[in-house]
Parts: sequence; structure tokens; C-alpha cells
Amino acid sequence: MSATLISGKELSSIIRERITKEAAELAAKYGKQPGLAVIQVGENPASTIYVNNKKKACEQVGFKSFGYALPESASEAELLELIDTLNKDPNVHGILCQLPLPKHMDEFSVICKIAPEKDVDGFHPVNKGLLSIGKDCLVSCTPKGCVELLKYANVDMTGKNCVVIGRSNIVGKPVASLMLHENATVTVVHSKTKNIKEICKQADILIVAIGKQGFVTKDYVKEGAVIIDVGINRCEDGKVRGDVDFDDVVDIASAITPVPGGVGPMTITMLLQNTLEAFERIEKGRA
Ligand code: NAP
Repeated sequence: MSATLISGKELSSIIRERITKEAAELAAKYGKQPGLAVIQVGENPASTIYVNNKKKACEQVGFKSFGYALPESASEAELLELIDTLNKDPNVHGILCQLPLPKHMDEFSVICKIAPEKDVDGFHPVNKGLLSIGKDCLVSCTPKGCVELLKYANVDMTGKNCVVIGRSNIVGKPVASLMLHENATVTVVHSKTKNIKEICKQADILIVAIGKQGFVTKDYVKEGAVIIDVGINRCEDGKVRGDVDFDDVVDIASAITPVPGGVGPMTITMLLQNTLEAFERIEKGRA
């Protein structure tokens, strides 16, 4: 039996349609559009693609996007000053600073400068802390997208064994917190974990975020498991592939996200969702 595909492309388009409608209603109510400020420092080509995609997505759902391009040579103080200005700007509801930053800048200081209520990437320690104690907050986009995909696929998470491969601050740890809040029994494995295959084989839900193409083969997968593949690996043949060997596991898993077209499209969609949530919260507070 072949696994059901969980399409992030399909879910993204449903959510973006809803966001467009809600944004228009809220814009009429508050007399302004949700505004997202996107800061890029330097000219990393991959970052330029991501930044342009985010700006385009904003405009498609009726948000305002404000682009700021600082040269590679900009100082950290200049960047912090820009963030300070955006924190105070009433037309800006979300601020994101495209990572990675040039080496002479301290990422953590920059993230900490963004006002938590405008931190639509969910990277600020205030939002990370709120997430870990299960309080309402802006949740990092990729992990939020993973859980939305599981809900869309009608996967019952309560009491299920969920194994997360990878413990990064942007994917592994926050997705583990979210899955705990969904009442799954969560295990996080990483590069120092022993018996990784055996642990993964216990998983009803396997979430893979390690950055190693085709790492997860059928030896890691229990019959009927649901797999969320977060990996984005650009291969020598120019194609993008996930961290899961799709062809190897497709007959064992019950459902799986494809790469591309799975978690990837959800990340920008959740950024739009976070911007809308920030807009509503900020404008409600002003009213
Ligand atoms: P990361 O910061 O490099 O973290 C990778 C994690 O995987 C680390 O915790 C590492 O363990 C673990 N790991 C590495 N090799 C391993 C091994 N052999 N066995 C077990 N664990 C291992 O990566 P990330 O930022 O979380 O990203 C992971 C993947 O997701 C990448 O392909 C990235 O491109 C993709 N991604 C996709 C999106 C999206 O929008 N779809 C968003 C973000 C990231 P240690 O901690 O022990 O080193």
C-alpha cells in the first residue's frame, strides 16, 4: 500500500485564501493593512530568493510589505537602530530579519531587539518561553506548519509516539513543544543519540529535520507511521529532496509530506498567519 500524500501546497492555498479574507475584514475595521517589514543584510542569493518570496506572498494576501536592504558592511548598531524604528512604527505589525546574518553580527542580540509582539518568526526568547509553557504566543513558522499539516491529514496526535529527529532551535525543539501540547508522547533524537533506528521505529509520527538528504530509510519507519519531512536539500542534479528517502518508505508509511510541496510552502503561509495574528493583537490593543 502506498502512503497518502499530505500536500502543503494544497493546505497553503486553503489557508492563504482564508487569510486574504480575514485581512480584508480587519483592514476595513482598523483602517489599515497588516504590515510586514523584511530586513536583509548583505546579498546572499538564497536569502534574496526567500525575501522576495515573502514579500510576494504578503502582497498576494493583501498585506503591506516593507523591504529593507542593508549592505554587508552595515554595523550591528545600524541594524539594531533600524529594528528599533520598526518596533515603534504603527504601520509595521511584523518584523523579520532574514538569517543568516553576516559574521560580524550577533544573531541572538538582533533577535532579542525585535519587539516580541512583532516577532513573526517566533525566535525571540519571550515567544520561545511562552511556547514551552504552553501560552499563547507567536510560534516559529516551520514547526507550526508541521502541526497544521498533521491536523489537515486528520492525524490523531493524542497519546501517539512522536519522534523528532533534530534538536535545532528553529525546528526540532519548537516542534517537540508543539507536539507535547497536542498530547503526543515526544522523543527528540539528535547526532549523539544511540540506537536511533530502534527509537524511530517506535514512532507513530516521525518528524525529520536534520539537513541530510535521504537519511531516513525504511529501517527507521514503523508500518503505518506518519512522516513529516522538513528537510530541504538541493542535490547535484538541481532537484530539491528531503531528509527522508521517499521511495524507500512510501510503501511502509501511512502518510507522508512530499519534498518539495510539503512543509516548505507551509513555512511562508505560517509567516502570513503570524503577521495577521500580530496585526489583530496590536490593533485591538490600540483601539
Ligand atoms: P540544523 O540547525 O543543522 O540542525 C540539525 C539537527 O539534526 C541537529 O540537532 C543535529 O544534531 C541533528 N542531526 C544531524 N545529523 C544527525 C544524525 N546523523 N543523526 C541524528 N541527528 C542528526 O538544521 P535545521 O535548521 O533544524 O534544519 C533541518 C532541515 O530542515 C534542513 O534540511 C533545512 O534546510 C530544513 N528546513 C526546512 C524549512 C522549511 O521551510 N521546510 C525550514 C527550516 C529548515 P546535533 O544537535 O547533535 O548537532
